[in-house]
Amino acid sequence: MAAYVKFWGTRGSIPTPASWTRVYGGNTPCVEVRFGETVFICDAGSGIRELGKDLVARRPAPQQLHLLITHTHWDHIQGFPFFEPVYMPATQIRVYGREGDVNRPYQLLSGQMSSDYFPVSFKDLGASIVDDHLEDGQKKIDGVLVRSIPLNHPGGCLGYSFEKDGRKIFYATDNELEITPGDVFPDPANTGPLRNFPEALVQAAHGADLLVLDAQYDDKEYASRKKWGHSSCFSATDFAIQAGAKNLALFHHDPESTDRKLDETVHSCRQRAHSRGAELIIMAAREGVELKF
Ligand SMILES: [Zn+2]
Ligand SMILES: [Zn+2]
Repeated sequence: MAAYVKFWGTRGSIPTPASWTRVYGGNTPCVEVRFGETVFICDAGSGIRELGKDLVARRPAPQQLHLLITHTHWDHIQGFPFFEPVYMPATQIRVYGREGDVNRPYQLLSGQMSSDYFPVSFKDLGASIVDDHLEDGQKKIDGVLVRSIPLNHPGGCLGYSFEKDGRKIFYATDNELEITPGDVFPDPANTGPLRNFPEALVQAAHGADLLVLDAQYDDKEYASRKKWGHSSCFSATDFAIQAGAKNLALFHHDPESTDRKLDETVHSCRQRAHSRGAELIIMAAREGVELKF
């Protein structure tokens, strides 16, 4: 069975509608991963609004949705009150997040709908919204093996992988792949050694058909934003090569990154992969694009 991935929001930190973000999009993170009738939604950034409209218009409209929240920074939950299925009584939305966390996604999704922030209260939503989690970091949902893995981000964050019938999709945004000054290669065509990353994370991503990775910065930007919890696009490229992935979608674009800059970024990352002899297809995630694996 094929897996489909559609990007509904690709921008990091804050929605960035502008003439110069028209190509790659200005909505904050939301990615749909679909296996047959089973719909997984990664994050509820502002991109989830358009997804909601699309889901309601589908025939048949899915009655059950699986919403996986990586973490509850605003750019990953702010679209939830505008997600049309939450107002549909026939819909069940299962919300997954970190287990045993006082700031569980379910609580914070409802918290951002308190009357100080929003006119409709969480308890008045029509859909049945169920608090769930992945026991021991993994669960089979409609035959799809869903795994979570901790990422390196202030306050914590989870990546998610989805596997079925030999297809594997791995979503890991808001993750800092730390690099040391010695790792920085100013020339993108540099053929220097690959950077080193945590083995557990490389293993979790191993052999993926698609990696959706945090690539908010270039090396220069990263150097002045260490510990902010995001990665250089070149680190994401090296990581994808190490993991033996087939496709890499650069994700969580910086609000300052113009369409033109992202085109240049993709070009540089492809040069890097080429210089390493890697057969890796690299793209920048683009709002509205659907991929099939
Ligand atoms: Zn973010
Ligand atoms: Zn974050």
